[in-house]
Amino acid sequence: MTIIEPHIHMFSRTTDDYRAMYEAGIRVVVEPSFWLGASRRHAGSFFDYYPLILDFERERARRSGIDHYACVSVNPKEADDLGLAREVLAGIRPYLQHERCVAIGEIGFNRITRNEEEVFREQLALAQELNMLVLIHSPHDTPEVSKRKGVERTIAILREMGIDPERTILDHNTEQTMDLARDSGCWAGLTVYPYSKLNPRRVVDILRRWGTEHTLVNSSADWGVSDPLTLPKVAGYMRDQGFEQEEIERLLFDNPRSFYGQEPRFRPQYDLPFIDPATYQR
Ligand SMILES: [Zn+2]
Repeated sequence: MTIIEPHIHMFSRTTDDYRAMYEAGIRVVVEPSFWLGASRRHAGSFFDYYPLILDFERERARRSGIDHYACVSVNPKEADDLGLAREVLAGIRPYLQHERCVAIGEIGFNRITRNEEEVFREQLALAQELNMLVLIHSPHDTPEVSKRKGVERTIAILREMGIDPERTILDHNTEQTMDLARDSGCWAGLTVYPYSKLNPRRVVDILRRWGTEHTLVNSSADWGVSDPLTLPKVAGYMRDQGFEQEEIERLLFDNPRSFYGQEPRFRPQYDLPFIDPATYQR
């Protein structure tokens, strides 16, 4: 079956990963902007990063038969530095308007600070101005931060600003936030991790309770403990658990296609050829 991966950080994955993803049926990926492992100190570092996910990864993916799109933003983990974030936002428009950019994201809260909220609002305003789809990160539960509180605050801001929920993904939901995501009318993202967090069994339990409609499953794979083959594995697990093929395809293909298809720049090609690495040069 053909799979669309709606949230993955290929910048931190290898070309072998692309090959394995292709072999497992993944034909389209969307790569949101993320934290690189150390916070950037200069606006120029962001402006050098965006072309890597908009152009370089697109080409690397294409050689492996995968159509690659990106989302551009100041990510939540770097949004607390208000001065720097504003400097980046002042120059971000050309990257948001790039032919391969399909949404603004990920944006939202990390530690739920005032500065993060300011930068979140400014990026939502940009999305409205440029008529863009929005991908929202929800904070991870820590001793200091409550994911549920972060999602509640996020939804309150979306409502206050009049952001269209149909054009918005609320990502990284768990059993604790699915009711909020459903109430909001936004698309609900579920990130599956190989260990500890949301595993395929928990995801299937959530899907049984909340259904597959308006739901997007993703790996969010990056350089951390994560797996770019998460979605083919979820498909297999769902099959074992008695889900119909039609429902699996709705979740892993139709839903991401419907959401990102609202952006005219998202015109996925499912039949790109896999190019033998021996035939191309670095
Ligand atoms: Zn991410």
